[in-house]
Amino acid sequence: MPERSGKLVAGAVEPEFRGPRRRLVEQLQEQGIRDLAVLKAIDETPRHLFVPKAVRHRAYEDSALPIGNGQTISQPSIHARYLELLHLTGTEKVLEVGTGSGYQTVLLSHLAAQVFSIERVAPLLESARAIIQQLGARNISLLLGDGTLGWRQYAPYDAILVSAAAPDVPQAYVEQLAEGGRLLIPLGDREEQILYLMVKRGDRLERREIAPVRFVPLVGKHSWEE
Ligand code: SAM
Repeated sequence: MPERSGKLVAGAVEPEFRGPRRRLVEQLQEQGIRDLAVLKAIDETPRHLFVPKAVRHRAYEDSALPIGNGQTISQPSIHARYLELLHLTGTEKVLEVGTGSGYQTVLLSHLAAQVFSIERVAPLLESARAIIQQLGARNISLLLGDGTLGWRQYAPYDAILVSAAAPDVPQAYVEQLAEGGRLLIPLGDREEQILYLMVKRGDRLERREIAPVRFVPLVGKHSWEE
């Protein structure tokens, strides 16, 4: 089994943010996050590097923050719940749709064997790529493109996480998910959605409603138009 935390370079985390990051982890525990691997990944990932300098002082608040190009980095508690729902054990191949800042991508790199992540906005992807290189995470592959098509080349995936909201499940996700694989996706309209956890059984998806959420729209061929 791959070593989960050994994939990042020690010392890349600026020490002055250790306290705020530790307090965020405690806050997430108080909110009911129990998965120790998820809490450890959050404790070891420098969220302040993934947000613009102007909001860096707020990096360890439990809030969504702007990352440019009209997009946001989600609340840490949303990331924690998302990751906890996937029950990753360190052996999985995961597809993430909507790299954004790359923060969740790095959290996933602690928890899974291989992470494939797609972003449609080039400047966001390039900024995420630079931070991922700086941190030394080696089990992440990035793609600039339309994530509603999935990433057929490396399918099937044990889990697919969609970090933007769609009106319905793009067919590519059903096709590219492994048997028993998990799909997390917010479905609804452009303003409000429900987060669903789906499990692939044969050629269909069993779905469970998790919670009401608000995500930016998934924009692409099999979702909302620009
Ligand atoms: N999880 C990210 C993070 O940690 O920063 C936040 C993701 S943000 C809420 C959603 C992202 O999905 C945005 O960066 C947006 O550009 C991207 N997105 C929207 N539609 C997409 C598509 N069809 N393919 C790939 N990325 C898409």
